[in-house]
Amino acid sequence: MSYLKILIISRCKIIIFLCITVIVITAIFMFLQIRNLPVSEFIDPNSGIIVIDPGHGGIDGGTTRQGILEKDINLDISQKLKVYLEQMGYKVVMTRENDMSLENLSGKDGTRHQKDLNARVDIINSNNAQLFLSIHGNCHVKNLNADGSLVFFNNRFQQNKTLAYCVQRALNNIIVDGKKRTIHDPVEGNYFLLNNAKIPGAIVETGFLTNEAELRYLMRDSFRDQIAIAIAQGVYKYLVEQKRVDYD
Ligand SMILES: [Zn+2]
Repeated sequence: MSYLKILIISRCKIIIFLCITVIVITAIFMFLQIRNLPVSEFIDPNSGIIVIDPGHGGIDGGTTRQGILEKDINLDISQKLKVYLEQMGYKVVMTRENDMSLENLSGKDGTRHQKDLNARVDIINSNNAQLFLSIHGNCHVKNLNADGSLVFFNNRFQQNKTLAYCVQRALNNIIVDGKKRTIHDPVEGNYFLLNNAKIPGAIVETGFLTNEAELRYLMRDSFRDQIAIAIAQGVYKYLVEQKRVDYD
């Protein structure tokens, strides 16, 4: 083999070796970068998609008082909220649109309740949504006077607290029969949806079914409409605040 041939083969080997090295280093770098990104970077914070989760459904009525089922109130408020958010230009994804439980949508093992919750988390996490709201009704059997809306959040995302405060304040401002209900601050809560969602969100307890007066309010279409408007206003406030934070 001539000296020139050996030189050409060596150069080829060196170039191939360098190419492979560059590819491997780039791949390792990208892998480390992805691993280091906070979860919130995986979704588009401005996707314009909001998930609404009407709590319970089907076999699971939620809290029940005087024949009134929480699941029905949750669904009605959620459908009203959907209309308001769509009027604001958002695309809304509902975890359920009728009286059904969701355990059959989950491929994972577990109790019926756990499978139902897993299905809700899957919908929240797989629609490129920028936030979710899970709509519920509250109960307090030891204090039947407890009333007012309560928003639950956790600190998985820094946005959660802002969202919770914006929605809570709007709900606190509702005036029904000429007066406000009890004013609350949002509360940190240990909820499966909040703990497993990959996007910001909040659990909204719209009112106490265990409070006689509030149960009557919740049975009124006009009050459920007030609740839906307040939540939409809270979401709007949050989105404006988020934009302000983004641009700062
Ligand atoms: Zn509930």
